[in-house]
Amino acid sequence: MSSDVLRPARGPVVLEGLPVSEGIDVGRARQVRWEVPQAPHEVVGPAGRDRELERFREALAWAKRRLQKTKAATAARLGAVEARIFDPQILMLDDPQVVEGTRRYIAENRLTAARAFDWRTLELKERWAQTSHPMVLDRLNDLDDLKLRVLGRLTGLPDPWELGRSAGLVVVARDLTPSFAVRLDPAQIAAVVTQEGTRSAHWAILLRALRIPAVAGLAGLFEKVRDGVEVVVDGRAGWVMASPGAAEKRRFERRRSALAGLGREMAALAGQESATRDEERIVLRANLDLPDEAPAAREHGAEGVGLFRTEFLAVGRTTAPGEEEQYRAYRTVVETFPDHAVVARTFDLGGDKFPLFLRMPTEKNPFLGRRGVRICLDEPELFATQLRALLRAAAHGDLRIMLPVVNTSGEVEAVRELLEKAAGQLREEGVAFDPSVKLGITVETPASALNAARLASHVDFFSIGTNDLIQYTLAVDRNCAHLSGLFDPFHPAVVHQVSAVVDAARSAGIEASACGEMAASPLGAVLLLGLDVGVLSVAWPSLPEIKKLVLGLRLSDAREAAARVRKAPNRAAAEAALTQVLIDAPEYRPFAPGP
Ligand code: PEP
Ligand code: MG
Repeated sequence: MSSDVLRPARGPVVLEGLPVSEGIDVGRARQVRWEVPQAPHEVVGPAGRDRELERFREALAWAKRRLQKTKAATAARLGAVEARIFDPQILMLDDPQVVEGTRRYIAENRLTAARAFDWRTLELKERWAQTSHPMVLDRLNDLDDLKLRVLGRLTGLPDPWELGRSAGLVVVARDLTPSFAVRLDPAQIAAVVTQEGTRSAHWAILLRALRIPAVAGLAGLFEKVRDGVEVVVDGRAGWVMASPGAAEKRRFERRRSALAGLGREMAALAGQESATRDEERIVLRANLDLPDEAPAAREHGAEGVGLFRTEFLAVGRTTAPGEEEQYRAYRTVVETFPDHAVVARTFDLGGDKFPLFLRMPTEKNPFLGRRGVRICLDEPELFATQLRALLRAAAHGDLRIMLPVVNTSGEVEAVRELLEKAAGQLREEGVAFDPSVKLGITVETPASALNAARLASHVDFFSIGTNDLIQYTLAVDRNCAHLSGLFDPFHPAVVHQVSAVVDAARSAGIEASACGEMAASPLGAVLLLGLDVGVLSVAWPSLPEIKKLVLGLRLSDAREAAARVRKAPNRAAAEAALTQVLIDAPEYRPFAPGP
């Protein structure tokens, strides 16, 4: 831990967590609670009945006003299509099944409005769940959202979705979902702090893309960071300070401006070619979660896109993105990088990313369930639309298609067939597309890494997805803050697999890049380079720092360090070997200056 960390002797409350999204900022805490509140058990007398009916009417009217406001704000920020995600809930507030059913319970069973609504929604949920029609299952999610709002109103709790208008908010939450994260407005949210989650959680990846500083894994957060208190969040060091004093605030400002200065210095590196001191060329690409990030990625020196997580076009939506919408999104990114590759990964849904339009039965282990290419193959209509859009966008540049969570060549071949079918249709329709688009996979399961030699003859490229590869190899949940110490990128089993993928790619004459978070951490990048992964793709805000690292080191040193890591008896020894490369890199200065 660096000595410049903002740790006061006493007074302010300091919490140490996991740095998940860079940047430091200060704001006012806003606790966001997702738990459905308990409805009180009381029975009401005849006099109370009318009062409860009125309270129910008022709660529905209030929920409708709130939803309409949120819809309008979302439309202004993200567009009318995205704003439609609120429609089903707005309609439900007038659905007689919901409204009349609850009113009957209040009137006939003498229940409080909260209890009656709770009962009625439970009953409807059970009834709706018996049908497997996707539209009905979507409604279950909406009903849950609505229940939180209405019951929250009736029991006097704040609406967790309603962040109000005030800017400079620090969202305090137990955990986040990608669909909540994608709706956060960087102009309003100063930072996010959570009790659960880690750097490789998908919501954390999104916050980095949105440039919202965040710290996760903060034990006792809700008790220590109360609503409305001032909070300093250091997303680089992983510290949070509630109620800072004047002296701490001054130190915070100094640290913030020092980091901003370094940020400018880093940005100046954007135009410089990335090669090591021993003149080995390294390609640095960007990971994108949203198409809007493409220009910023280019400005930060990205040589193309190594991972475009297209599923964020779908997450949080009640209707799937159509072909035209997707085509425009992919084309925009491709045209932003006319001279470079853009690797678009097909929808990696499932795990922790569930759009409302997909019929997703509850799974006990979603990361081991319907996820990635499994969903692509299970949802032919959704997938065919995406393949058509990708093929069309590929006509405008070097777009490549990457499949997530693949285990077998059978999965790749099944996709190839669908790709050919989509190409055939486009040809018949006379629509322009690229018939020779490259098809690759994210190597992110031990099954694919250890089988890379065979898979290599079925694909045009590999990209090593270290986030999932580490999670699945070590049986350590990438989202679990408690286990973050066990999430070890330098574990011999991980190193062995990365090496196997590189060897397989080299023998087959195809590219092996890396696109997981490991490539964005200095030690992780040194190891990957030392293992001869010559193309790294990182979230674009990390590009200048990784470039600085590449410029400062010798590839031969990184290779030697990687050889030592292979023989290292433990993680500390592995890290020491990699750190030595940084110490020996005179140009490289770790990005953690003190005031
Ligand atoms: C990975 O698993 O490393 C990866 C890049 O994909 P994601 O983080 O989206 O699962
Ligand atoms: Mg992955």
